Amino acid sequence: QFILAIETSCDETAMSIIKNGCEVVSNVVASQIDSHKRFGGVVPEIASRHHIEQITIVLEETLQKANMDMNAIDAIAVTEGPGLVGALLIGVAAAKSLAFAHQKPLIGVHHIAGHIYANRLVEEFQFPLLSLVVSGGHTEIILMRDHGEFEVIGETRDDAAGEAYDKVAKTLGLPYPGGPHIDRLAQEGEDQFQFTRALLHEDSYDFSFSGLKTAVMNTLHNAKQKGQELSDVNLAASFQASVIDVLVEKTYRAAKEYGVKQLIVAGGVAANKGLRKALEEKFSAEKDLELLIPPFHLCTDNAAMIGAAASIAYEQGHRAKLDLNANPSLSLEKYAKRSKKTPV
Ligand code: ATP
Ligand code: MG
Ligand code: FE
Repeated sequence: QFILAIETSCDETAMSIIKNGCEVVSNVVASQIDSHKRFGGVVPEIASRHHIEQITIVLEETLQKANMDMNAIDAIAVTEGPGLVGALLIGVAAAKSLAFAHQKPLIGVHHIAGHIYANRLVEEFQFPLLSLVVSGGHTEIILMRDHGEFEVIGETRDDAAGEAYDKVAKTLGLPYPGGPHIDRLAQEGEDQFQFTRALLHEDSYDFSFSGLKTAVMNTLHNAKQKGQELSDVNLAASFQASVIDVLVEKTYRAAKEYGVKQLIVAGGVAANKGLRKALEEKFSAEKDLELLIPPFHLCTDNAAMIGAAASIAYEQGHRAKLDLNANPSLSLEKYAKRSKKTPV
């Protein structure tokens, strides 16, 4: 079974061919980061235009790298949401055109389901499992009792983890996207400022990162007003320590409460070296609880993860019609409910 997957929800034009749900045959990511960098973030109109320019080139490259043509493809999968509507539309239109022209089944995929399924390219899932999703727009703890079933048991009440990283990075004058830069600086610093660990002792699996972001900004601002020099590496390390402490501690608590077999980490912030190390240390002594983290290139946006999620949906018999539309605010639980329905 070969699935051609398309992902254009943000600023990566990505396509991939996935064999039997877990083998990456080819994986192409055309990043637009350089075009957005000078604006300090993703500009939606620029993103759409780049997707239009890149999409056929990326398709050709994806098929070429796999040494395959469209005849060998069993189904076309595409991210239908959430994301930037103008960006999603390019991928959805491309997928529908390909499905129509080559008479192939079409499968719509939720972007976060994709991030989660990046882990299935590493190892087979064992249920129940818990997924810690930490990306640019989402921070959630999700319980999965089976394939395609997603139950959100905790989420951020304000900023997503990646968003906080990017905003703090901007304050420190680092380029977009700031996550990797903070991560690098944090390795060289120490937790000098001991920022609050938000909601750590509250009886819920929710998160909050907006206060931490403000605390970093205030610390920087106050020092500037007093004419003091602050250590950027210590500021980065202190911010990162607070984020990691809360993420690791809450995820561990949830994993224990729900008695899961696996903890799988998903989303761009899963590429964070400090977070990976802290999770590995925390879970290393757990014999019946396996920790899965995707390789770096499968943490941030890519289409291989979309293909991995689509493969299961394909096996379960789910098909989208040619009236499939981009849905910029598609919720994971709504998507899960749909996938539980009797397959068509
Ligand atoms: P979403 O998936 O929620 O729609 P997105 O697709 O924009 O959002 P991702 O591509 O999953 O987000 O991840 C991008 C985010 O990951 C950015 O905020 C980026 O700063 C962050 N990120 C990437 N690498 C690292 C790292 N090493 N440390 C911390 N954050 C990182
Ligand atoms: Mg991106
Ligand atoms: Fe993403």
